[in-house]
Amino acid sequence: QYHLAQIDAHNEQLNAFLAVYREEALARAQAIDQKIASGQAGPLAGLVVGIKDLLCYESHGSQAGSQILNGFKSTFSATAVQRLLDADAIIIGRQNCDEFGMGSTNENSSFGSTLNFANTEHVAGGSSGGSAVAVQAGMCQVSLGTDTGGSIRMPAAFCGIMGLKPTYGRVSRWGLIAYASSFDSIGPMAHHVEDLALVLNCIEGQDGYDSTLTEAPSVAYQPKKRVAYIKEIVEHPSLQADIRDAFFARVEHLIASGIEVVSVDFPYIDQMLPTYYVLTTAEASSNLARFDGVKFGHRTENPKDLMDLYKKTREEGFGEEVKRRIMLGTFVLSADYYDAYYTKAQQVRRLIQERTMAILADADYIISPTTSSTAYRIGEKTLDPLQMYLGDLFTVQANVTGLPALSIPMGEDSNHLPMGFQVMGRPFDEAGLLNLAKTMQ
Ligand code: GLN
Repeated sequence: QYHLAQIDAHNEQLNAFLAVYREEALARAQAIDQKIASGQAGPLAGLVVGIKDLLCYESHGSQAGSQILNGFKSTFSATAVQRLLDADAIIIGRQNCDEFGMGSTNENSSFGSTLNFANTEHVAGGSSGGSAVAVQAGMCQVSLGTDTGGSIRMPAAFCGIMGLKPTYGRVSRWGLIAYASSFDSIGPMAHHVEDLALVLNCIEGQDGYDSTLTEAPSVAYQPKKRVAYIKEIVEHPSLQADIRDAFFARVEHLIASGIEVVSVDFPYIDQMLPTYYVLTTAEASSNLARFDGVKFGHRTENPKDLMDLYKKTREEGFGEEVKRRIMLGTFVLSADYYDAYYTKAQQVRRLIQERTMAILADADYIISPTTSSTAYRIGEKTLDPLQMYLGDLFTVQANVTGLPALSIPMGEDSNHLPMGFQVMGRPFDEAGLLNLAKTMQ
C-alpha cells in the first residue's frame, strides 16, 4: 500500500513506471501474508520489486521502451523474474527505460523521459532510469535493471542509490530482451547492501536456458585488502571537480580504515568507448533483426509486399537512436569493413581484459567515480550523440571485461545532485564488493 501510494503521488510527474500491477500486487501481498503466517514463505516474502521494461514477465507487456513492441505480451517469464516470484517477491510494475537499453539518460524512451526525484529538471540517468527513480522515490524497495555499459550503475549514481552489475555469466539472460548479448547483464538496484545481496542470491545461477552461465567459483577470503584507482580516470579532463574531491575523500577514508590504495596506469582509456560502441552496435544490429513486424508487436498497415512490411514496420517502430545503432552495427559488420572495425575491436577488447585482469592480480578492487558528472539537465546532451556516449567512459570497462561492479552513493555535489562511487572486482567477487560497500557506509 505504501509503495502504491508513492506511485500515485509521484509517478505522473516522474514517469518511472510504464505499467503498475496494482490489483495483482495487492492480491499477492495477501497470499504471501498467509504464507508467512503458516511459516511457508520464501526468502523474499513481500519484497516489493519493479522490473525494467526489458524483462519479460508472463502474460504482461514488455516493450523495451519501444513502439515496435507495442501490444506485445510475453508468453514466459525471464529466469530472474521467475525466481523473484518463486521467492515470494511482489512485482509491482514495469519501469521506463531507454529504447532497447540504448541511452544514458532515459531520454531515448518512446514513452518520454523519466525525471530525477532529486531535481526534476535533471535526467534520471539511463538506461535503467525508471528503475533508479522508482527506488529513489520509494515506489518499490528493489528494482531489477540491466547493464550493458553502465545502465544500472549510472542511473544509480545519478539518483543516489546502489546498483550492482553482476559478473557476466552469473545471472541468466533468458527473458532479457537482448541489446548486446556478450555485454548484457541483469542486476538489482536498491538503497541497502542487504537488499542487493538477497536479490542477487535469489536470481543467480544455472537454469539451462543461457549457455554463457558459469558456476561461480568460491572466492578466497583475503584479510588484507588492496585497492587500485586508474590514474587516467581520476585525471580525466571531463571529471567534475567536486566528484573528484568526494572520491579522494573516500580514498582517505579507505586508507584510514587500513586498506592500501595504489594508483595504476591504464593505457587504453581512449580505446574504451570506441571498442564498446563498435561491438555493442554490431551485436545490436543482429539482435534487433528479429523485430520485423511478423512475430512480435507492431506491424505496419497495408504493406505492398513482404519487403515493404519489414521496412515500414521498422521505420515506424524504432526510434532515432536505435536506427543509428543498427546502421552503425551493420556497417562495422559489412564485408569490406569487418576486419577494420569488428575484428579490431575484438582484439582491443582482449587487450583491455588482459590489462584489467593484470591490475586485479595485484589489487582486490578497482575504484573510480561512477560517472564524470552528476545528472545532466534534461535535453543538455540530446543533440550530440558523441557527447552522450562520453558519459559512459567510467562504466563500460566492467562490461567490456565482464567483471562485477557496484555503484555506491557518494554524497551530493554543490547543486545537491547525487554522486556515485564505483567498485569493480574480480570475476564472481560480488560478495567482496558488497562487503566493501558495507564498510564504507
Ligand atoms: N549508455 C550505454 C549505451 O547507450 C549503456 C547502456 C546500457 O548499459 N544498457 O549503450
